[in-house]
Amino acid sequence: MAEKTKPRKRYNCLKCPAYCCSYQHIPVTDDDISRLAEHYSLTFEAARRKFSKRGDEDSPRVLRHKEDEHFGSICRLIDTETRNCTVYEARPAICRDFPSQNRCGYYDFLTFEREVQEDEEWVATTGNW
Ligand code: SF4
Ligand code: SF4
Repeated sequence: MAEKTKPRKRYNCLKCPAYCCSYQHIPVTDDDISRLAEHYSLTFEAARRKFSKRGDEDSPRVLRHKEDEHFGSICRLIDTETRNCTVYEARPAICRDFPSQNRCGYYDFLTFEREVQEDEEWVATTGNW
């Protein structure tokens, strides 16, 4: 039987201001914390405190945030100037899996608006999409 080919990605994170990194609840597991601890040569406990905070019943630990000019707040592990993840190789599993399909709703909206507004740099914020 012929091997199925993966559908081509219909989004480009490098052209996006990283909207998904502004989600309030980005769950992290102990494995994710261990990876971050190793990346920064920190103890597990130090990395846990530095990069995560208490979440809720479904996600006991979530990534900490910092201020962001576009979305109000965003994951503290992002570079807010370049809009790139500063721990790409060591990023949490959920960040690797997202958006779990070949389209990203935010990117579709962003692309449409940038075309309409003829502005390649335009940023859609949570208030207007
Ligand atoms: S919102 Fe979509 S396009 Fe933007 S960084 Fe996240 S996954 Fe990539
Ligand atoms: S760890 Fe990186 S990819 Fe994940 S939310 Fe933070 S900045 Fe985004």
